[in-house]
Amino acid sequence: MELPFAESYKIKTVESIQRSTREERLQWIKEAKYNLFNLRSNQVFVDLLTDSGTGAMSDKQWSAMMMGDESYAGASSYYKLKEAIADITGFEYFLPTHQGRAAENVLFSALIKEGDIVPGNSHFDTTKGHIEFRKATAVDCTIDEAFHTELDHPFKGNVDLNKLEAVLKKYPRERIPLIMLTITCNSSGGQPVSIANMRAVKQMADQYGVPVFFDSARFAENAYFIKLREEAYRDKSIREIVREMFSNADGMTMSSKKDAIVNMGGFIGFRHQEHFEKATTFNILFEGFINYGGMSGRDMNALAQGLYEGTEFDYLETRINQVAYLGKQIRDYGIPIQYPYGGHAIFVDAKRFLPKLPKEQFVAQTLGVELYIEGGVRGVEIGTLLADRDPVTRENRYPDLELLRLAIPRRVYTNNHMDYVAAALINVFDRRKEITKGFSILKEAPILRHFTVELERVK
Ligand SMILES: *Cc1c(COP(=O)(O)O)cnc(C)c1O
Repeated sequence: MELPFAESYKIKTVESIQRSTREERLQWIKEAKYNLFNLRSNQVFVDLLTDSGTGAMSDKQWSAMMMGDESYAGASSYYKLKEAIADITGFEYFLPTHQGRAAENVLFSALIKEGDIVPGNSHFDTTKGHIEFRKATAVDCTIDEAFHTELDHPFKGNVDLNKLEAVLKKYPRERIPLIMLTITCNSSGGQPVSIANMRAVKQMADQYGVPVFFDSARFAENAYFIKLREEAYRDKSIREIVREMFSNADGMTMSSKKDAIVNMGGFIGFRHQEHFEKATTFNILFEGFINYGGMSGRDMNALAQGLYEGTEFDYLETRINQVAYLGKQIRDYGIPIQYPYGGHAIFVDAKRFLPKLPKEQFVAQTLGVELYIEGGVRGVEIGTLLADRDPVTRENRYPDLELLRLAIPRRVYTNNHMDYVAAALINVFDRRKEITKGFSILKEAPILRHFTVELERVK
């Protein structure tokens, strides 16, 4: 008998989670104004809101924390992290920040001004938020295949080079401070970018004299997909692939809460001293001195260790197989999802799940609320609420994809939990014809509204 696949770790510490009744959940979600972010975590049984900062640290990370050096300047933890970043990514210069969006804030303060254009592949919401906050514009150049959920394509995160070149031709060089490539591409479904595409983007960017930065939250998952799907890299190690990926960038922003498996942390990596020096002032202003920037010494130690664990093949195989394990059950039942499965999440195609619901009633949000009521499973809307209003016209932006994301925390849940989630979603699918009404907005913030929006049921 062939030995089956099994996880590459065992469990040392556990945390209790509670089930609830349907009646309780109906009450709680109403009190939360139908915003899943407003639920208390003990009102949730399986929490797939995000894979950000929700991972389980290893025994080695916890022991590294005890060795943290809390000196303000010149701490050994800083140098340990600096060495780990240089070793894994190849970037010689770095600035620590408290999380990914802080890295964006610091980098963009140094590089972006009003009226600028930042091309990329489906910019992440905080990235776009930081660009638009500076009255600049993010232009999405993702390949069209990304927007057809059932279409099988190995690298749906890729940039369409024609779209990119059109942007580079249209605007003068001074108005394009950087190209931002997100690996894996979160907003299009955790989809990877190929090395061939990274190389082509970099070549084109060099031609036009524009630097390329990678938004790298899930760089290791991206490398895993490259190993599986890009012929030339089949026999390379994950770390070799990672180095090759980053050789096509002038720098990176990192949310360490993702692939570095820590609960808080981030950084910016730079190839050029000039970029590093420009950003340094803003780092000191917003985050802290350059030797810790928003992190304690112990956090930097855990992060340094996490960068190594997050780039181990066995760990990545365990992780991505678990996401696919959930995806397969859902897809085999005929529920429409973004395919191939993403690295960190399954994205349910809410428009095809609830085809009759008007887009004005927030289709993916409606599905998210139903899944919560069904089983206490919390996902998150990646759709019209997240897409926000157009900054100029203030009209709702209706994105091509209206998705419910089920993000899997790293090393946290077992496959029994995945079975539970699949069953809950299947139950909602079986009664989808009864879901005829969505939600309208009671109250919303002017930017990044999805975090705090309050909703009511359409009567
Ligand atoms: C999470 C994330 C960010 C922002 O990082 P935070 O640590 O949440 O501030 C930026 N880009 C991508 C692709 C992300 O997934």
